[in-house]
Amino acid sequence: MKKVSLFNINFDNYDFNDLSKFIDNSISRGDNRFIVTCNVDHIIKLRKSKSFSEVYRAADVVVADGAPIVWSSKILGKPLKSKLSGSDILPILGSSFENKKYKIFLLGAKEGVAKKASENLKKTFPNINIVGYYSPPIGFEESSYENEKIKKMLKRAKPDILFVALGAPKQELWIYNNYQDYNIPISIGVGATLDFIAG
Ligand code: UDP
Repeated sequence: MKKVSLFNINFDNYDFNDLSKFIDNSISRGDNRFIVTCNVDHIIKLRKSKSFSEVYRAADVVVADGAPIVWSSKILGKPLKSKLSGSDILPILGSSFENKKYKIFLLGAKEGVAKKASENLKKTFPNINIVGYYSPPIGFEESSYENEKIKKMLKRAKPDILFVALGAPKQELWIYNNYQDYNIPISIGVGATLDFIAG
């Protein structure tokens, strides 16, 4: 599908169905892909950070996270089909994950939040297959012990989809620096989505 270039970022012009298809195909092929949900805060941070820009160049899919980006795309004559934020994606995909039996792992947020989010998702989608969750301690990304521990957890749990909630750009950098090592079909940074779901 054709990319739409806005603010120096190449967006994939996906709606929810397109994204679902991409996720399904990646899982059935056993790929190793990562998705970035771009919001206005990212656009500002990208101007200042070379490493964040590198992550964007490597991302398999970039979707627009926020109505302002979709409005701007229309005003600039390059209309994007849809807003797709982490908090749109995770709850809506929940029911299809349930039917397709995809294995989900939730990583990030403060202690107890990933666990609570997992419990709430199971209440809403009783057959959802959450194979693990972990809220690492603050500053974990500097600790090789913690990073190895997480990668071991992921290799053991073998999820199809990893949701990473560490805020931007930490979550995107963490995925970029580790995804080839842990080898999961889909990884996606979801910001504060686990906090929303945990309530
Ligand atoms: N977070 C985390 N570790 C960090 C920084 C943030 O687990 O070092 C979590 C935070 O608890 C929250 C989520 O990342 O659950 C999103 O954080 P924030 O709202 O600051 O990021 P944004 O969504 O604005 O990018």
